[in-house]
Amino acid sequence: MGRPPKCRRVEFLPQCTFFKPAGIPLWSLEEVALTVEDVEALRLKDQEGLEQEKCAERMGISRPTFQRILTGARQKVTQALVEGKAIRVEGGNYEYVSRRLRCGQCRAEWDSQPTDPAEPPCPKCGGEEIARMPHRRCHSRLKGKPEGSPDKS
Ligand SMILES: [Zn+2]
Repeated sequence: MGRPPKCRRVEFLPQCTFFKPAGIPLWSLEEVALTVEDVEALRLKDQEGLEQEKCAERMGISRPTFQRILTGARQKVTQALVEGKAIRVEGGNYEYVSRRLRCGQCRAEWDSQPTDPAEPPCPKCGGEEIARMPHRRCHSRLKGKPEGSPDKS
């Protein structure tokens, strides 16, 4: 019996899932597909500027796995920019973890935003004893056939 593939942890779900180059007619448009964990890898490394070790830890995966995801994601984005392809973000194998934070002093709870620093002070009392309370939802969507594509043989 095969084990199901391990979920990668992501703290960010992309709101924009389709990027289309201007001026390319739809009929000649090609797409590259990024998974949700591809985007998370780019975000942690290139947006937050974290070390690979830290990125791997945040996603709950090994460093070689992180390296492989990051390299693949960068290649796809580069290909889209160079060759004028659209980028679609969909699927993958991930577990979304919202960053629910709680203040140890006044007990306030809130959800941090992806743009916040890793350990922000309490918005209510300014306290710095912040605990992380992950709320987990597992999305384990694997890539399938694109919707609406007819079966042709
Ligand atoms: Zn507080």
